[in-house]
Amino acid sequence: MNMEARIRGIGMTSQRTRLRLVDRLRASGIKDESVLQAMADVPRHCFVDEAMASRAYDDCSLPIGEGQTISQPYVVALMTELVVNSGLNGKKINKVLEIGTGSGYQAAVLSKLVPTVYTLERVRTLVHRAGDRLRQLGLRNIRTRYTDGVEGWSENGPFDAVIVTAAMETVPQALLGQVADGGVLVGPVGAQQGTQQLATMRCRAGQAPQLQKIEEVRFVPFLSGKC
Ligand code: SAH
Repeated sequence: MNMEARIRGIGMTSQRTRLRLVDRLRASGIKDESVLQAMADVPRHCFVDEAMASRAYDDCSLPIGEGQTISQPYVVALMTELVVNSGLNGKKINKVLEIGTGSGYQAAVLSKLVPTVYTLERVRTLVHRAGDRLRQLGLRNIRTRYTDGVEGWSENGPFDAVIVTAAMETVPQALLGQVADGGVLVGPVGAQQGTQQLATMRCRAGQAPQLQKIEEVRFVPFLSGKC
């Protein structure tokens, strides 16, 4: 089935399934109604292989090819909540940089809540597939780029928030340097095998980033180079 047919296929069944997922996310502790709405609006089944589509609204990560995974919906919702509520004194988040486009799903959810989303991916086939998907879904406020994300995207920075969706042993300095004064970097930090700590790092000019641990997560590794 092509993408258009799949998008048209968002009938009552998948809408109901998505609302059930939202109920589960709420029960798991996601509170921000705008985030829950974005999770209800983005058709996750369009971001996984057709063979996996029936499991798209289970709260688990799924393979997307090239040895990579689309994150568990709960983790996507949690990271989105951390990003959109990260503005100091209720400041609105206008510009976010994501490292690790993968399927494009996290970027799509963010694009419902943030005016411009920039996203970088080191695997060519994934970034092309994600770009096509996002275009077909009419999400025009997302810019994708095929590159090693370790250097960020300085031409478009600084960003109100940077979100990293791959496990970092150490947080690349260039990424911290592209967070706006008072903004945050959100991502999993720790050993690349096993589990990591999802953390936020608040960046203020002239100060060391302030780390806050959120909870244990399991991500695929942050790798260097392109392929
Ligand atoms: N956010 C994605 C899931 C991410 S899986 C989604 O919603 O589907 C992690 C992704 O990070 C993988 O696609 C992997 O290729 C990518 N990645 C790992 N290291 C990277 C790097 N240095 N630069 C850019 N992308 C990277």
